[in-house]
Amino acid sequence: MTAKILDGKAVAVQIQAEIAADVTKFKDLTGIVPCLVAVLVGDNPASEVYVRNKQKTCEKVGMASRLERLSNGARPEELLGLIARLNVDPAVHGILVQLPLPSRWDTHQVLDAVAPAKDVDAFGPENVGLICQGRPRFLPCTPHGVLQLLARCDVEVSGKHAVIVGRSDIVGKPLAMMLMQRTGPLGDKAANATVTVCHSHTKNLEVFTKQADILIVAMGRAEAISSQHVKPGAVVIDVGINRTDAGIVGDVDFQSVRSIASAITPVPGGVGPLTIAMLLKNTLTAATQQLQAQQHQT
Ligand code: NAP
Repeated sequence: MTAKILDGKAVAVQIQAEIAADVTKFKDLTGIVPCLVAVLVGDNPASEVYVRNKQKTCEKVGMASRLERLSNGARPEELLGLIARLNVDPAVHGILVQLPLPSRWDTHQVLDAVAPAKDVDAFGPENVGLICQGRPRFLPCTPHGVLQLLARCDVEVSGKHAVIVGRSDIVGKPLAMMLMQRTGPLGDKAANATVTVCHSHTKNLEVFTKQADILIVAMGRAEAISSQHVKPGAVVIDVGINRTDAGIVGDVDFQSVRSIASAITPVPGGVGPLTIAMLLKNTLTAATQQLQAQQHQT
C-alpha cells in the first residue's frame, strides 16, 4: 500500500482564500481592518521566521499586522506593560506572543496577561477552559489545522480511535480535547473520536500507536515513529518540525510509514501551513467579536 498524501499546503491555500473573501466582506461592511500584533522577545532565528511568515500571510489575506520586539535583556514588566497597552488598543484585534520565550521568563504569567478576547493563540486559561467545555471562543491554531485537514480530506473521525503522541499545552492536550468533542469547527466532521494520549512516560508506545485508526504525532523527535508503530491502513498526521543536517523532517519516518498507512501528511507541507491560516481565522473572529461587543455596549 502507498499512502495518499494529505496536502496541507493545498488545504491552507483554500482556507486562506476563504479568509481573504471574509476579510474583504468585513472591511466593506465595517471599514475596520483586522489587525494582528506579534510580540517577539529575543532573537531566536526560528521564531524570526515564524513571525515573518505570519506577517506575510496577514498581508496576503488583507489584514494588518505589526511586530513588537523586545530584546533578550528586557525586563518582565516591559513585556507585561506592552501587553497591557495592546489589550486596550482598539486598533489591535489579536495578540500573539511568539513562543518559546527565553528560558528565564515565566511563560504562564505572560500568556495569562493577554486579554482573552485578543488571545488568538487560545493559550490563556479562559480560552482553554471554553475549549474543554466544547464552547470555544477561538481554537488553538495547530490542533485546529489538524482538524481542518482531516475534515477537508474526508477522513472519517467519528467513532475512530485517535492516538496522539505528545501532551503539550500547544498541540497534544488541546487536540485530544477537540477530537473528543460532540461537534467540531466543521460540525460533526473531525469530532467524536475515542482518544488516547501518549507521552514520554508511556510504556511500550507501539502497543498504543498500533491501535490507532488515526495516529497524530507531536513529539519533537526526528523520525521517531516508523512502520513498526503503525497499524496497516491507519491515517498518520505528523505535526513534528525538526531541523536536522538533512533539512526539515517530521516526527514520522515518512518513507517507512507511507508504505503501510492509508494516508499521511508530508513534512514540510503538511500541518505547518495550516497553523498560520487558522491564526488568521482567529484574528478575523476576534475583530468580529470585538465589534459585536462594542455595539452591544452602545
Ligand atoms: P513539546 O512541548 O516538546 O512536547 C512534546 C511531547 O512529546 C511531550 O508531551 C513529551 O512527553 C512527548 N514525547 C517526547 N518524547 C517522547 C517519546 N519518546 N515517547 C512518547 N512521547 C514523547 O513539543 P510541542 O510543542 O508539542 O511540539 C511537538 C512537535 O511539533 C515539535 O517538533 C514542534 O516543532 C512541532 N510543532 C509544529 C507546529 C506546526 O505548525 N506544524 C506547531 C507546534 C509544534 P512529556 O510530556 O512526558 O515530556
